[in-house]
Amino acid sequence: MKDIMGKTLEALMHLFFANLCAGCDQPLSRGEKMVCLRCLFELPETGFHLLEANPVEQLFTGRIPVSAATACYFFHKNVSLQHIIHQFKYHNRKEAAVFMGALMGNMLKQSVQYAYIDGIIPVPLHSKKQMLRGYNQSELLSEGIAGVLQAPVIKNGLVRMTATESQTKKSRLDRWQNVKDAFQIVKPAALKGKHLLLVDDVITTGATIEACAEALLHIPGVKVSIAALAKADY
Ligand SMILES: [Zn+2]
Repeated sequence: MKDIMGKTLEALMHLFFANLCAGCDQPLSRGEKMVCLRCLFELPETGFHLLEANPVEQLFTGRIPVSAATACYFFHKNVSLQHIIHQFKYHNRKEAAVFMGALMGNMLKQSVQYAYIDGIIPVPLHSKKQMLRGYNQSELLSEGIAGVLQAPVIKNGLVRMTATESQTKKSRLDRWQNVKDAFQIVKPAALKGKHLLLVDDVITTGATIEACAEALLHIPGVKVSIAALAKADY
């Protein structure tokens, strides 16, 4: 009984939130979906996907050889964007992540560098964290991208071995030490020779995504590109 009540409540909450903008909590007008037009227009696009040696690519210069790297929006410039990310990270609003992933896919599609992606790999959460949250937001972003780029999401191809400590108060070097051995490839043979797109929600120093890319780059013939929803300052 308790389960049914819980499910009904969840469905009602879902219906309620589905009619509010994920960016500003205002009711959506007819024809608007997930994010209102005003918030959509104000999302601070970086345009990095069209710029060579953009600030995200520069994060990885001299660290790992990535084919292309971008973050679609500036995290700190826009409250609605921060709210959207908060909604899908901590408030179970999963479809907002898929929606933002589709926006990312539409941007990446404009650049020839992302035209030939063989598979999309979400940055994994540690299994305990994923169990608590019930989903991996990077996987949902990846699904949104996959719908536009017509490339499959490779789930569980990369796993997070250790529960790393919180990264927020660490320096760039400490962050790297903290994550460098945290990721492992499950079936390397299946990824051989592929151009893989690593996807994360917010990129800060790039340490986590660098550790993922490093693990993937051990597979023969693999090319790695990177796409994050947002770039945060650090
Ligand atoms: Zn809005």
